[in-house]
Amino acid sequence: MYPFSLAKASDTREALNAGRRGGRYIAGGTTLVDLMRETVERPGTLVDISGLPLHDVTVAEGGGLRIGALVTMSGAAAHSKVRTLYPVVSQALELSASAQLRNMATIGGNIMQRTRCTYFRDVTAACNKREPGSGCAALEGFNRSHAILGTSDACVATHPSDVAVAFAALEAQVRLLGPDGERTVPFVDFLLRPGSTPNREQALRKGELITSVEIPALPRPLESGYLKVRDRQSYEFALTSAAAALHLRGGVIREAKVAVGGVGTVPWKLPAVEEALVGERPSDRLWAEAAAHAADGARPLQHNRFKVELLKRTVERQLRIVGGSR
Ligand SMILES: Cc1cc2nc3c(=O)[nH]c(=O)nc-3n(C[C@H](O)[C@H](O)[C@H](O)COP(=O)(O)OP(=O)(O)OC[C@H]3O[C@@H](n4cnc5c(N)ncnc54)[C@H](O)[C@@H]3O)c2cc1C
Ligand code: SF4
Repeated sequence: MYPFSLAKASDTREALNAGRRGGRYIAGGTTLVDLMRETVERPGTLVDISGLPLHDVTVAEGGGLRIGALVTMSGAAAHSKVRTLYPVVSQALELSASAQLRNMATIGGNIMQRTRCTYFRDVTAACNKREPGSGCAALEGFNRSHAILGTSDACVATHPSDVAVAFAALEAQVRLLGPDGERTVPFVDFLLRPGSTPNREQALRKGELITSVEIPALPRPLESGYLKVRDRQSYEFALTSAAAALHLRGGVIREAKVAVGGVGTVPWKLPAVEEALVGERPSDRLWAEAAAHAADGARPLQHNRFKVELLKRTVERQLRIVGGSR
């Protein structure tokens, strides 16, 4: 470990001032501290934001839900409104990490977490995300867990968050507060694809703080859920995952929201799958036909070709779970 300073912000203004001066926010600390121990990250000043008033889940104007950035993963998963209105969010959280981690880790920290690419976490390996211009060891290395969608020649790392997949599917918004005031960014624009600058991962400006994630009101009834496929049944990141929400009226699918994880450099929304579903009557054949589009545009690597078929099967299975087998 190297020397750094730690200051606890007593209010939002104090946090923003420290953030503007280059301080790094720390919430639950469950991932930032690991990265500091491994010297992958070396912030000189940490700003503890755990005392800020961002711990609530509230009903937003228009009827959606606003989840404060400091709500813990377990708190959000167990919240009665989240459970009843958006089971897909509760399920994604409950299938993440471990109970101990979920009790400490926050929603803001979760969507900000960095990739689990082993080369990123090995400071002796070439990695454009950690050290721009140094190369990408994963391209010629062992890339079984890497992305097949949204990749670039500079980086093929997946975004590891589960709940981010649910937020992308539901078209959530990220609310930010910075030195220039408040703004809202659509979730799908908040996490950035690597392109030629994989070191830039979020659409955050210097010193900006995530204050909440807002899920819009969606037509009811809404069936939703999250399916995660991984090498072992608990305490493991996704090989593939699917978040789906369907609104049916009169036996016809009126709205479909689908996104996938474990396969994209960011949580990957599937508009082609959604389009194939809307206006149709649920059937096993429909689930299979829609899921056939799940890997459109995929660019598999040497060791992760299996993800193309696995992804289609994951989406098909999840549609059947949410929409019913018939
Ligand atoms: C062993 C292990 C297994 C895991 N498995 C999973 C899994 O299966 N699925 C999954 O989704 N996650 C998993 N995780 C990741 C875990 O969910 C994250 O560590 C956690 O959500 C991070 O939250 P935190 O509050 O501890 O963030 P911190 O470590 O405090 O911060 C993380 C980052 O977020 C920034 N940050 C935090 N809050 C804010 C804010 N309000 N505004 C701006 N920036 C902010 C920090 O500056 C830092 O860069 C796992 C982690 C571990 C260690
Ligand atoms: S895939 Fe991305 S994070 Fe992993 S080594 Fe390559 S540049 Fe680094």
